[in-house]
Parts: sequence; structure tokens; C-alpha cells
Amino acid sequence: MARSDRELRGKILEYLRKHHGDICRHWFDDLDMIGVEGGVLRFVVAEPVRLRYLQRTATNAFSEAAQAVTGRLLPVRFLAPLNGQSATRFPDRSSGIGSAPMLDGSDTPASLDEQMVLSPDFSFDQFVVGPENRLAHAAALAVADRPGRAYNPFVIHGGVGLGKTHLLQAVCQAVLARQPSARVVYISCATFIDAFHECVKAGRMPEFRHRFRNVDLLVIDDVHLLSRHEQTQDEFFHTFNALHQSGRQIMLSSDVAPTEIPALEERLTSRFNSGLVARVDRPSFETRVAIIKAKAKLQQLEIPDDVPAYVAARIDTNIRELEGALARIRAMAQANIAPVSLDVAKQALAQEPRRDSERSPSIHVIIEAVTRYYNLKVTDLLGKKRHKSVALPRQVAMWLARRHTRYSLEEIGGHIGGRDHSTVLHAVRTVDHRRQIDGSLSSDVARLERSLARRDEETPAQE
Ligand code: ADP
Ligand code: MG
Repeated sequence: MARSDRELRGKILEYLRKHHGDICRHWFDDLDMIGVEGGVLRFVVAEPVRLRYLQRTATNAFSEAAQAVTGRLLPVRFLAPLNGQSATRFPDRSSGIGSAPMLDGSDTPASLDEQMVLSPDFSFDQFVVGPENRLAHAAALAVADRPGRAYNPFVIHGGVGLGKTHLLQAVCQAVLARQPSARVVYISCATFIDAFHECVKAGRMPEFRHRFRNVDLLVIDDVHLLSRHEQTQDEFFHTFNALHQSGRQIMLSSDVAPTEIPALEERLTSRFNSGLVARVDRPSFETRVAIIKAKAKLQQLEIPDDVPAYVAARIDTNIRELEGALARIRAMAQANIAPVSLDVAKQALAQEPRRDSERSPSIHVIIEAVTRYYNLKVTDLLGKKRHKSVALPRQVAMWLARRHTRYSLEEIGGHIGGRDHSTVLHAVRTVDHRRQIDGSLSSDVARLERSLARRDEETPAQE
């Protein structure tokens, strides 16, 4: 990289740390900038998961930074290296879907076409091990090492925000790093259910089967959502058997133990229990401190030694909430134009009435109210369908959660189908804007707010 380019890159990163600290990661320092061509500033990123992260979350912020630093309009693009090697490493294409001629049409059901998105934050490197997750972590490493041969299936269960998705994605990334041609499919159960229904309706079951049965590693996140979906359970049973019999790896996560998933067929429960079932528990104080330190380092946020212990003492529910607290501390420091200190942390968390005594509705209550109001299934609301009939209620749910709970954007996204903070922010802005111009939307929202308030009076203590 030429010296002038290095300088430009340094300034861009400095601007980002100052104005968009939440998206910055320590590995930004290794980004390869190849300069301006055709009026576009280009970065080459060899690692597919990082490339996807940048394209999805960082393009606008980088373009803004490039403009601020150079004083001219300079859009930024993130590209894979030209030799094409890394394009074939794209996890979403590794399922073999691209090579199936029958899937070429643009009318492929949306959820089948859903791109697999892995987060570079969810790697083994970034996972803090403690007594609460040691078994799950060790088993995940073993599975990544010998897919199909260590534990099959491998099931992780435990409450929300305790690292299930993180571990599942870490395995996917480790497998792909070692064997780029491995056919890996990571999918949320809600998307799996959506895809199944769409394919049934469109008469495209061969494609569905092709997609899920020709893989080396199939990961279904939040499999408890299969509860009460009898047809999908039946299909999944056959998918499971096809993969298992040919020694391909299956990994699942669930918020309860397999035997406790309501209305799950016995033959599935027994299959889930036939491999290794590992539970993740709430993190201890020591683990919480270690996690806060690790997250701050990942996000290049400088925090003095007394802050992690303070946060860990106040927040003991789950790791997603620890991350939310860290985000608020960062925002508070930024608002004060001061570095993070214990005072800043106290200030940031003081605004939080303790969540358990709070009278605001939980996200679950909001999800329930919105699905009832719009007559939707929870799996649809949490799933990936982008049809207006689902997309708008989903945005309304995010808006309500933002307005009526103390959850951060990350936390809300995590609860509503594992979306990232920028998606939630976009939803909040969209609803804010549309409420102004669309009378029927504004009265829908008002009615929903009233129903949440009524529910609150009836049942003061929730979650
Ligand atoms: P779950 O799927 O169990 O609801 P996630 O895997 O999405 O939870 O974890 C929520 C957040 O907490 C993620 O940002 C994840 O990186 C983080 N996290 C969870 N467990 C750990 C851990 N042991 N070390 C580091 N980060 C963790
Ligand atoms: Mg999860």
C-alpha cells in the first residue's frame, strides 16, 4: 500500500472510531485498501465472513468517513480478491445451491435463496470460556475438528443471550477455514420453516431437499421453533436421517432441552438426544468480567480496570445484555466527549431502572401483541420473509421494543430473529417517518401501545 494510501486509511479509521465506534473491530487495522478507481475507494477483503460483515454493516459509514476525510464524495466498496479463489469460498454458495441449474431462476423462493450470514464476531477466538459453557465449547471444538465423527448430532441448549448462536457460527467458520469447499448451511429455524412452507406451496420440494440434504454440515439455530409445526417436523426428520446416515454433521440449538420442546415428535426428541446435548448456563461474575473485557477489546473501546467489574456486578442476566450495557457506556462517553470511566459507566447504567422491577413490557409481550394484532405467526415475525405483510409488523415490533423497553438496538435485533443493530435502527426510523404520513399505521401503533399499557397494569411484574 502506498504511503499516501496508508495515511488516508489511517484517517478513515480514526474517523470511524470517533463517529461509528460501534461497528469498528480490531481487525480493521489489517484492511487492505487498494485506492481509488473510477471514483470509488476500494478495499480488498480475502476473508469472506469479514467481507460480508463490511458490506452489510460498514459501507455507509466508510463512505461517510472517506467523504469527511477527503472533502469529496468518495463511495467505498469492499471487494473479494480478483483471482476468484475467495468468491468460491462464500459460505452461502457452498451449499451447492449455485451449481444446481434448476435453482437459477429468479423465482427461487425467497427464503431458500436467503444468504447465509455468519458474523466475524462469532468465532472461537472471541468466545470466552467459563465453567458455564465449558462443555459446550469443548464439544463445539471437537465437532469443528472432526465434523460428522465427534458428536452427531450436537445440540446446544440454554437461555437467550448465552452464546448458542456464537458457538454454532464458530464451528461453521472453523470448518470453512480449514476446508473452504465444505458445504455448510447455517440457517435459523424460522427461515427453515418459512422455506419449507414456500417450497410446498410452490411445488418446489425437490429444491428444498437438494438444498438441505446435500451438505456436509447443517446447522439449525433455535430448533425449538419447530414446536407445533408438524409438517416441517416430518420433513426435518427425513432431512436429519438422510444426513445422519451418510455421516454428515448436524448441529442444533434450542432454548430448552430437547425433551422439553413442547409438541415435538418423540422420534425427533430421541434423535436429538442420540448425540451430545450440552447446556450453556448464565455466566458467573468472573466470566462476565472476562467477556466485557474481550468485547471492549474487539470493539477497540478503551475501558479502565474498574469498569468491567462494575458492569458485571450490575448485570447478571445474559451476555447480550452485557453488550447492551457496553454500548450504552460508549454512547454516554461519546455524548460527554470524555473517555470511558467508572463515572461514565455509572451514569450510563443509572438511567436504567433495574430491569426485573421495571414496569415496561418485555420483548416477548411485544412480539405476542404484534403477532396477535396483525394475525401473524411468531415464526413469520421472527423469520426472514420480506413480504410487506410481515416486514411492516416486524418493523413495528422493533419500534415498540425500542420505545417501550430499555433494550439496546443489538438486544432488540437479537430477540427479533437475530437481526443486527443497523436493521433495527432502520426499522425504528422507518416507522417514525411513516407514522407521520400514514394515518392507518399511526392508529395501529397507538392501539398496540394502548394494549401494552393495559397489559402492564394487569401484570406489573413480567420477566
Ligand atoms: P444465544 O444464541 O444463546 O441467544 P448469542 O450466541 O447470540 O446467544 O450471544 C449473544 C451475544 O453474547 C453475542 O454477541 C455473543 O457474541 C455474546 N456471547 C455469548 N457468549 C459469549 C462468550 N462466552 N464469550 C464471548 N461472547 C459471548
Ligand atoms: Mg441465538
